[in-house]
Amino acid sequence: MAEQSGQGPSYTDSDYLFRKLALGIPGVLFTYWLSADRESHRYLFVSDQVYSILGLDPAVLRRNADTVFSAVHPEDVEGVNASIEASLEALSLWRCQARLRVNAGHYEWFEAHAAPERQMDGSTVWYGQFHNIQHYKALEHTLREREAESAFQADFQKLIARLSAQFINLGFGTIDQCIFELLKTIGVFFEVDRAYLYEFSPDYRVMDNTHEWCSPGVPSLIDSQRNLPTDDFGWWHGKINEMVNGNRVVFVEGIEQLPVGPERTMLEQQGVCSMFCVPVRVRGLVIGFFGVDSLRKRAWRQDQADLLMIVSGLLSGALERHRLESELLNQSIRDPLTTLHNRRYLMPRLNEMLGRSSRHGEHFTLAMFDLDRFKNINDSNGHLGGDFCLRKFADILLEQTRETDVVARFGGEEFVVAFSGVSQADVRDTVSRIIHAVRSHDFVFENSVLPLTVSAGIAAIGELDTVPASPDPLIRLADERLYRAKQAGRDCLVDASGVSRI
Ligand code: GH3
Ligand code: MG
Ligand code: MG
Repeated sequence: MAEQSGQGPSYTDSDYLFRKLALGIPGVLFTYWLSADRESHRYLFVSDQVYSILGLDPAVLRRNADTVFSAVHPEDVEGVNASIEASLEALSLWRCQARLRVNAGHYEWFEAHAAPERQMDGSTVWYGQFHNIQHYKALEHTLREREAESAFQADFQKLIARLSAQFINLGFGTIDQCIFELLKTIGVFFEVDRAYLYEFSPDYRVMDNTHEWCSPGVPSLIDSQRNLPTDDFGWWHGKINEMVNGNRVVFVEGIEQLPVGPERTMLEQQGVCSMFCVPVRVRGLVIGFFGVDSLRKRAWRQDQADLLMIVSGLLSGALERHRLESELLNQSIRDPLTTLHNRRYLMPRLNEMLGRSSRHGEHFTLAMFDLDRFKNINDSNGHLGGDFCLRKFADILLEQTRETDVVARFGGEEFVVAFSGVSQADVRDTVSRIIHAVRSHDFVFENSVLPLTVSAGIAAIGELDTVPASPDPLIRLADERLYRAKQAGRDCLVDASGVSRI
């Protein structure tokens, strides 16, 4: 009881004083008693705040401390017990952090400090307090997250720097290897099981898996993912739209979030749990996407989508360069009118065939074609009529030859077909078929049929006295025979056995 006097209150009842003091502290003061046999425990004293904070009746706790312990978060029970044990053994200060179920029903973080004192009878009493540290924990969590985020960001930026160096140094013809290295680097960085590049058809109705990296032991899917029609995949169609029109990264953290449908079934069959896909643009148009599969469930850093777009930019740059290079290459080795290979392409191929012939004795035969009286076609139908015939003749050449035969426009209306590993008889058959096909084809230009025929000279390497150092003597021989075919009245072929009319 407090006694009032002129100098303010003076306290004689220390218990009363203590309880008053305890009320002013935001936490809970306590003296916790544990019997020597550790069978019973109770609070000798506990501040009344234990009711407002944890909803526990102090009167009950003074008889038995069980309810405090049952308010500890299941994941923290072990830690609490271990810290009490350590303090009990060493009689050292008990310090512990744990989540307790608060009055409102959820868990919040608390920290306890208490000094132990062994009693005569072997029991132990702790004098201390616990208070709410939820605010600090939340702050700590945010700080940790920020730290992890900036560490991730720094690592990602390093990765991008490394990849850009790789793509800047990209050598001619190494694009596939570079894309594979990029996919591997991304795959390893994100600790995923598969990384891939898909290309869309121009109308986005077909997609084709062109490159793939798999982590060791993970089965490859590339062969089952070629030329997939996208029409059957309704959900995926929406995602393609997001990538193409919204330029957005598609994140899937759990396949179970997908609507039931063919794409979910397919991903489930593949064992995929999480994935993301990043659109790839070339010349402003989305031409495909790169992405990753994880066979375990993952949470993606969706805030890092912009960094993924930078990676996509690297890929775009490389693909764009690759397209440009192959276009340039194509332009330099193809004839724009007929799209056949040109002389620049033909000559090295002839050298290769010559090499194979001299090393392995492989047949190597050349047929040279020249359209008959082509000047007349031009004169009576104009240059466009002539061009039309050149294109049609090129089609006939391609139709009548095999993939392994080299077909080229040699000059004006002269063409060469080079045969490697084909018998004399087969070459003759092919050339005869071509002459026949031209004669019987209706070259319809501006409603009139143009009368077109072709002559050919055939020369085989075995017909030369010695194996030549270059294909020139063979070309010369074929040309001479072609000239003889012209003299013989055109629309025929000349080979070692002379003129043949078909
Ligand atoms: P021959 O039967 O003796 O071969 O007679 P020809 O008229 O075909 O022979 P010539 O070599 O005198 O004429 C070839 C013509 O082919 C001349 C040239 O204007 C034409 N020519 C060459 N290149 C092209 C082309 O790209 N387009 C068109 N339309 N004509 C071409
Ligand atoms: Mg001619
Ligand atoms: Mg000519």
